[in-house]
Amino acid sequence: MATNNPAADQDTHFFGDVCKNFDYAAQFTKHDAGLLDQIKSCNSVYRFRFPIRRGNGFEVIDAWRVEHSQHQSPTKGGIRYSEMVNEDEVMALAALMTYKCAIVNVPFGGAKGGIKINPKNYTIQELENITRRYTVELIKKNFIGPSIDVPAPDYGSGEREMSWIADTYATMNPGQLDAMGAVTGKPIALHGIAGRREATGRGVAIAIRECVSVGEDMQKIGLLPGISGKKVIVQGLGNVGYHSARFLAEFGALVVGLCEFEGAIYNEDGLDVEAVFQHRKATGSILGYAGAKKEFKNSHDGLEQPCDILVPAALENQITEANVKNIKAKIIAEGANGPTTPEAEAIFYKNGGIIIPDMYANAGGVTVSYFEWLKNLSHVAFGRMNRRFEENTNLNMVNMVEGITGVALTPLQRSTIIKGASELELVNSGLEDTMIRSYHEIREIYINNPKIGTLRSAAMVGAINKIAVSYQNLGIWP
Ligand code: NAD
Repeated sequence: MATNNPAADQDTHFFGDVCKNFDYAAQFTKHDAGLLDQIKSCNSVYRFRFPIRRGNGFEVIDAWRVEHSQHQSPTKGGIRYSEMVNEDEVMALAALMTYKCAIVNVPFGGAKGGIKINPKNYTIQELENITRRYTVELIKKNFIGPSIDVPAPDYGSGEREMSWIADTYATMNPGQLDAMGAVTGKPIALHGIAGRREATGRGVAIAIRECVSVGEDMQKIGLLPGISGKKVIVQGLGNVGYHSARFLAEFGALVVGLCEFEGAIYNEDGLDVEAVFQHRKATGSILGYAGAKKEFKNSHDGLEQPCDILVPAALENQITEANVKNIKAKIIAEGANGPTTPEAEAIFYKNGGIIIPDMYANAGGVTVSYFEWLKNLSHVAFGRMNRRFEENTNLNMVNMVEGITGVALTPLQRSTIIKGASELELVNSGLEDTMIRSYHEIREIYINNPKIGTLRSAAMVGAINKIAVSYQNLGIWP
């Protein structure tokens, strides 16, 4: 619940945890202490409050926007709508965005926003008022704009909220040609991009598939290589969790457990993710789903069931010293930001597991947000200029090969070869390429320096080195 002093009721260890990982990783770099300090600190922390009309009275809303690092512009990061959000959390999430963008080579600095409300307690009109007023407050302080700071969805927000932000920003900036680039994660009808909605989950699934494809790494943790048949438990059936589960099943994994805040369900023979999703939509709960063999009233019991891979995709601090020893998975793939505490991570690695860290695993969202921003600045959909040209070129080639060889292709073969790429195909291909390349960049650092110890620290070493180059390019550090 909001207090009169939101800074006072904050839980203060999430940003500290991110900084701890930074400090540890920094030992494996050779940068000046001042530069490291500059990279680590949050550059701008804007805390504000505004009133909204509710019923016959008013309510004062607490909100934040944190720009962690402007080594690249604009800064970028989602807006969290949660009654638990606090300044420390927004700072931690903003910092993670800086490192995440560096890891996947997206040329943005990191930022994050927070609005301290439980969206379920507000009408759509009230949510619209809150979102529009939040945006106006950002505009007043120059904390939003296509070249300044570009928000996106996060926990508790989605396309609807992003379209209110885009509309408010465009209204307050008449004639600004690139106004739609001030926010990403918009609906496709409002200058969004195909594939953004599912991008984070698709990225998580690709990250896991890539990790389990490396035979020698799997051997070390006692798993067979390959995604096929791997047993997975996913926590959170929201944007990230639902799509992660869906794509993992599509890639051949067996989703055996799903956990939501009302409870968890399990079936070692696999759950139909879409059917569970529809069941929850219809009944308001995953409990009572006919295809489950076990049900748990305590959602956390679901995390401790037998599986190969656990995907926490809800909130931070889900895997702690208290429950990590009961986790059966060999791989934790962090769909959410900060789901594993540093203490739990150390125990998990000691027990022979491996963690695919949030900074990399859930970077698919910001990667496709980058593509959306590029589309907004170029004012043209991907594929529009070259699709037909590509198809004509391919058609000429097929006709020529058929003519020379005398072999006629089937209609299916012809259309498969000839077809030019759609926006969705280009986005998915860019996302897949990014996730695969980045995984191997991180793994290379991890393998080449065993003292680093975790994929998280390896990812951080890579991020620090790239951000340091940006500062050097700006001429700030030698
Ligand atoms: P969301 O609001 O769409 O979904 C979160 C889901 O988690 C909800 O269904 C909620 O009921 C469930 N949940 C809440 N508490 C739970 C608990 N204790 N146990 C089980 N389930 C619980 O949010 P989202 O966008 O999917 O974000 C989830 C996480 O992923 C957050 O940490 C967010 O920062 C991170 N993330 C999101 C994106 C994105 O593109 N949306 C990108 C990167 C990272």
